[in-house]
Amino acid sequence: MINERLKRLERILELTRMISADLDYSTILQTAISIASELTNSEIASILKYDEGDNHLHFVAAPWFHKDAVEGVRVPLEESIAGWVYVHAKPLVIQDVHGDERFYSEVDLAAEFQTYSILAVPLLVKGRAVGVFEALNKISRAHYNGEDVTILETLASLAALIVSNISLEERVEKTRVEAEKLEQMKNDFIAISSHELRTPLGLILGHSTFLREVIDEEHQEQLDTIIRSGAKLKEIIENMSNVKNFQSGAARLRMRKFSLANLLLDSINVFQEAAQEKKITLHPDIKTPELLLEGDAAKIEIAFSNLIKNALTFTPEGGHIFVVAEEIPGYAKVSVVDDGIGIPEKDLPHIFERFYQVESHLTRQHGGMGLGLSVAKVMIEMHSGEILVESVLDKGSRFTFLLPLDPNQIDAGQRVFHTKI
Ligand code: ADP
Repeated sequence: MINERLKRLERILELTRMISADLDYSTILQTAISIASELTNSEIASILKYDEGDNHLHFVAAPWFHKDAVEGVRVPLEESIAGWVYVHAKPLVIQDVHGDERFYSEVDLAAEFQTYSILAVPLLVKGRAVGVFEALNKISRAHYNGEDVTILETLASLAALIVSNISLEERVEKTRVEAEKLEQMKNDFIAISSHELRTPLGLILGHSTFLREVIDEEHQEQLDTIIRSGAKLKEIIENMSNVKNFQSGAARLRMRKFSLANLLLDSINVFQEAAQEKKITLHPDIKTPELLLEGDAAKIEIAFSNLIKNALTFTPEGGHIFVVAEEIPGYAKVSVVDDGIGIPEKDLPHIFERFYQVESHLTRQHGGMGLGLSVAKVMIEMHSGEILVESVLDKGSRFTFLLPLDPNQIDAGQRVFHTKI
C-alpha cells in the first residue's frame, strides 16, 4: 500500500519537474494523460480546453492513437459530460455513460472508441474552470472511487497551469494580429486620404489665388480666409504623405552640404510674424554659426518647423521660445525650448506616435492631427539621428534632435544622390 502511494507521488513529481523544466506544453500534457490513465487504472485519459472563440471545449491532449481523430472535434457545453463539469466546476463520476443523457457520443464516433465509464474533473485556475481532465473506462469495469478523484484532481491542478498559459498565449497572439490589422488600416487611411485630398485641394488653392487677383477689395478678406485654410489643409496632407512615403520606403534622402545656422534662422524667420501676433518671443541662440552638415536639408527643415509650430501652438500669450544649436561630440544638437503648457508625464512615451494627441480631439482647443511629431521623428531618424522630449506640465517643454556630424554614419540605404556645394 505504501509502495503504491510512493509510486503515485513519484509519477506526479515527474510532472511537476517537467513543468519547472519548461518543456513544451504538448509534451507535458501528453505525459499528464498517460500518468492519469496509469494511476486511475483507466483505458485512456484526455484534456479539453475551453475556447471562448466558439464557446466549446477542444482536445489539447488525447492518446496518440486518437489524436488525429479528435483534433477537430468541438464538445458543446450543453449535452456533454465534459461541458457539465466545466460549467459546474465540479468533478463527476459516471459508471455507465449510456444511461446518462449528458453523454456526447460524437467523440466516440470520431475516435472509433467505446466509452462506458467516465471520471471527469475541472481544470481550475483561481477557482475558475479553464478546461476538463477526463479518465475513461476503468479497467475490468471496476468503479471509480474517491482516491481516483483525488489523483485526477491533483493532476488537473498541474495541467490547469499549462492550459491557462496556452489560453494566455493565444490571447496575446490574437491581440498582436488585431493590432497589426489596425496598424495596416491606419497606413491605408493615410495613404488613400493624402492621395485623394491632394488634387481637389490643389484646385481650390489655385482657383482662389487666381480669384483673389481679380476680385474687388470688398471680398478679398473672405478669399484670404479660404486661402489660409487651404494652406493649413495642405500642410496636414503634406505631413500625411511624408509619413506614407517613409512607410512605403519611397522616402529617400537627397544629400547635400548645408549650413545648419542658415536653415534654422530662415525657418525661424518664417514664424516670427505668428510669434509676434501671440506676443511670444522666438529667440535663436546659435552657438555654431559656421557648422556645415551633410544631409537632406528640406527634411530637417520639416522636422524643425514642426517643433517650432508646436511650441507656438502650446505656449500661451507672452511666453518664450528659445532655439539652441550647438555641437556635442559626434553630433549637432538642436533644442526647441518653450515655457508653455507642458506635457503630462504619462503621455511622454507616446508623444511621437502617429495621431497621438494629449487632449482628446473632442475637447482640444488646438487644431492638428497628431502627425507633426511623428513626421519630425521620421525625418531625423532617416539621418540616423535621434529626437527626444523633456517636459514638465505647466512649466514647458524641450524638444531636442541630434544629427550626426559624420555623413558616413547615415544609413546608406536612405540616400539617393549626392551633390556638394
Ligand atoms: P499635432 O499636429 O496635433 O500638434 P503633434 O504630433 O505635432 O500633433 O503633437 C502631438 C501632441 O503633442 C500635441 O497634440 C500636443 O498635445 C503635444 N505637444 C507637442 N508639442 C508640444 C509642446 N511644445 N508643448 C506642449 N505639448 C506639445
